[in-house]
Amino acid sequence: MKVDKLLQRYRIEHGKHFRLKDHGPADTHGLGSELKPQATELLANGVKELSRLQNILAAQDRWGLLLIFQAIDAAGKDGTINHVMSGVNPQGVDVWSFKVPSAEELRHGYLWRTSKCMPGRGEIGIFNRSYYEEVLVVRVHPEELENEKLPKSLVTKHIWQERFEDINNYERYVTRNGIAVVKFFLHLSKEEQKRRFLERLDDPEKNWKFSSSDVKERQFWDAYQEVYEDMVRHTASEHAPWYVVPADNKWFTRLVVSHAVVDVLKSMNLKYPKVSSAERAALKQARQQLKSE
Ligand code: AMP
Ligand code: MG
Repeated sequence: MKVDKLLQRYRIEHGKHFRLKDHGPADTHGLGSELKPQATELLANGVKELSRLQNILAAQDRWGLLLIFQAIDAAGKDGTINHVMSGVNPQGVDVWSFKVPSAEELRHGYLWRTSKCMPGRGEIGIFNRSYYEEVLVVRVHPEELENEKLPKSLVTKHIWQERFEDINNYERYVTRNGIAVVKFFLHLSKEEQKRRFLERLDDPEKNWKFSSSDVKERQFWDAYQEVYEDMVRHTASEHAPWYVVPADNKWFTRLVVSHAVVDVLKSMNLKYPKVSSAERAALKQARQQLKSE
């Protein structure tokens, strides 16, 4: 299977004509269950390659990488992050989950809380939800804007357009500083969400994952689909693409995400730092010193 083709299919760099209904949540790129063993091997390869590249990313200490995950409840954000990053050195990765903003966070512009968590050079940062909630949940429930205590004159019908602009500019700025940005929208079907909710209710070990607000939010399904679509349309770019990843089959979601992460790391053309001749001489001397102990 051609991984490039696979990624191309789900990567959106120009959102203008993007339509969510052209993307099937149950799509597996024609990979039937008979190819599942091959897919499992491919996932394992992806995870291994990721670990190798992360090592060089850290050693070179020039580039950083931000991965953003957005999705409706039960689409598999947690599980995907867990699986895909399973082989990497935990010292090089930070995962941040963004919940309902705190009182202190609400006293600042909405990029404040996430800015503090941005990965540095040599690091991978993962946002489990992000500033994109500001054009998702807040857009579906505009009454949330009240909590943000913005001056009244600044809250106009242009607010979502303005937020798209600010997010695009922010991602432009971040990527121009050597921190790559890749965004994943895990695209789940309404039926599969129901199935997973019921599983969470039925299985005592999964009860903790269920929140009564999940069923409440499900009633806004169509509104969410609209704002996700609009988000991709307005914020997909070459420097910070969206991957719209089919999420009804967990094995397939993980396969796409792991290879997308490998792909962006490869594009950095990472190299271990070059050792100068003076440094090489120092290494040689250290070696002799240890040998002669
Ligand atoms: P979970 O990720 O399932 O633990 O839930 C976190 C909750 O926080 C979700 O319902 C999000 O919609 C909500 N949330 C995250 N960011 C924001 C935000 N900026 N404004 C309002 N709600 C948010
Ligand atoms: Mg939840």
